[in-house]
Amino acid sequence: MGSAEMIDAASGVETGVDTRIEDRIKTRARELGFDLVGIATLGQVETAGHFDEWIAAGYAGEMGYLERGAEKRRDTRRPFEGVQSAIVVAMNYGGTQPPGPVARYARGDDYHDVMIDRLNELRRWIENEIGCAVHGKPYVDTGPILERDLARRAGLGWFGKNTNLINPELGSFFFLGELLLDLELRADDPFEMDRCGSCTRCLDACPTNAFVAPRVLDATRCISYQTIEQKGAIAETLREAIGEHLYGCDVCQDVCPWNVKFSRDATEPAFAAREVIAGKDARTLASDVLAMTQEEFSTAFRKSPVKRAKLAGLQRNARVVLEHFKARSNDSGAATG
Ligand code: SF4
Ligand code: SF4
Repeated sequence: MGSAEMIDAASGVETGVDTRIEDRIKTRARELGFDLVGIATLGQVETAGHFDEWIAAGYAGEMGYLERGAEKRRDTRRPFEGVQSAIVVAMNYGGTQPPGPVARYARGDDYHDVMIDRLNELRRWIENEIGCAVHGKPYVDTGPILERDLARRAGLGWFGKNTNLINPELGSFFFLGELLLDLELRADDPFEMDRCGSCTRCLDACPTNAFVAPRVLDATRCISYQTIEQKGAIAETLREAIGEHLYGCDVCQDVCPWNVKFSRDATEPAFAAREVIAGKDARTLASDVLAMTQEEFSTAFRKSPVKRAKLAGLQRNARVVLEHFKARSNDSGAATG
């Protein structure tokens, strides 16, 4: 992974005296709770062409917001004038929790809020450390930045066939964030290897056959898109395969050997599962959701990623989950009848 650094909770933070500003920044980033940190060069984005083709093929579905800022997306020097470096961070949200009706990333607090605040804190710390003004912009899924591209350039991992960025010591259950700065920093080596090899577990395991090819996802078939992003009815042809997924899907990450071997518990308290979700099976949670008023939903999912689907979307999903259980009990009734 180049010279980008890894935080190991077991071995603790390095105790040596850091002399380079890059090393001191990484130490501070780790103290702020980031699990991976690397520094990237800015410039033309290698995967921007693939991204444009992906949009043109219609694989982004209703996610029109992804088309915005195409020029900025193609060149990481464009988001603001004078930008020179990107500090790329990752925060583990815990791939070791058991699977459940809500994807792991969405069980706790909204990662945007958690990470943006810390990236802003990191920028202020850098200003203080070097004693002059440093302009910067934090991104956490919040702008026209191809985050995985930048993360690979910063040495944090490679693009898996399941389209996630995979780190060889942490797997892929983490959020990415970037702090773009008008400060020149020495970049880490990019991650050049593809360590998927001949594996196809993620492609084979997808319940809705959403992969058109390795690293090409037809989001309109993906359970995450169907249960979170799209606003209409869930396609009839996908309902059975959606099964017990009330919000999002982790299947193509769960089966990845890098996650099986290297996932870790989340240490960030903000990502602990909320009471409304914790420990509930799909049938119980779907029934709870259907009984919720708008006020109860707003209270239960305040500052949670789940609020993105709104109550109407979550109740739509809950009906699909309960239909699945009904169909299953009808099938087993017919089999034993
Ligand atoms: S998140 Fe689920 S539905 Fe989407 S591609 Fe992965 S396995 Fe398939
Ligand atoms: S499951 Fe296999 S092919 Fe898919 S991302 Fe993981 S290593 Fe790569």
